[in-house]
Order: sequence, then C-alpha cells, then structure tokens
Amino acid sequence: MPEQIHVMERRTRQRAALKEAIEQAARPLTPQEILAEAQDAVPGLGIATVYRNIKALMSEGWLHKVEMPGGVDRYERAGLHHHHHFHCQECDRVFDVEGCPGNVESLAPPGFQVASHEIVLYGRCATCSS
Ligand SMILES: [Zn+2]
Ligand SMILES: [Zn+2]
Repeated sequence: MPEQIHVMERRTRQRAALKEAIEQAARPLTPQEILAEAQDAVPGLGIATVYRNIKALMSEGWLHKVEMPGGVDRYERAGLHHHHHFHCQECDRVFDVEGCPGNVESLAPPGFQVASHEIVLYGRCATCSS
C-alpha cells in the first residue's frame, strides 16, 4: 500500500507542475514545450506522462486545444477570453494576440451562419526579428 500512495503523490506532483508550466507560459505550448518547461520541477518527467496529463486535463475542461494549420497542436488554459494567435515562422512558437477585429462574420456569403472563427497571424516574433 505505501508504494501505491507514493505513486499517487508523484502523479499529483507531476500534474501540478504541468499545470503551473502551462499557466506560467501564458501562450499555447506544444507537448514538447510543456515537457521542457516542467522538466526542472519534475526530474525524470517523460513525454508519455505529458500526453496522459494533457488528455486528463482536456476531459476535465481545464485545458483547451489550439489547432494550428499545418502545425502541431498546442494547448492553453481553457476559459480564456476570446483572443487569437501569432505563429512565429522562425522559432515556431505561438503567442496570444489580444483582441479581435470583430465583425468578421460579415465576410461569410449571404445566408451562411457563422458559428465561430479563428485568426492566425504569421511572421516573426519580437525576439526573432531583432
Ligand atoms: Zn520567434
Ligand atoms: Zn475573434
């Protein structure tokens, strides 16, 4: 039994470290980036554990998947207010873009009903363009 408790404690610590890494980043992260961010806090952390926790946090409604056209899925905290993303083509990082031009629904042809929209800006981030 003590061993089982030990495993549970370890899993709880891993979960907490992953959540903290995601919140600290304040931008959508790939599973590899989550692993890199949380590795210091959780020695021996592996990518399988990251994926397992992503799945669990998604089903709990804590985590939200950000699908990038032609890119790897990223993950951000669920429940953030409406915002968009910037994909740096140099370093492949994705950043949050505050605000929305609004009224993009009017771009749809007459008679079409818009349910949602995504806007992705592409280019170079501040670090890469300096
Ligand atoms: Zn960049
Ligand atoms: Zn918008």
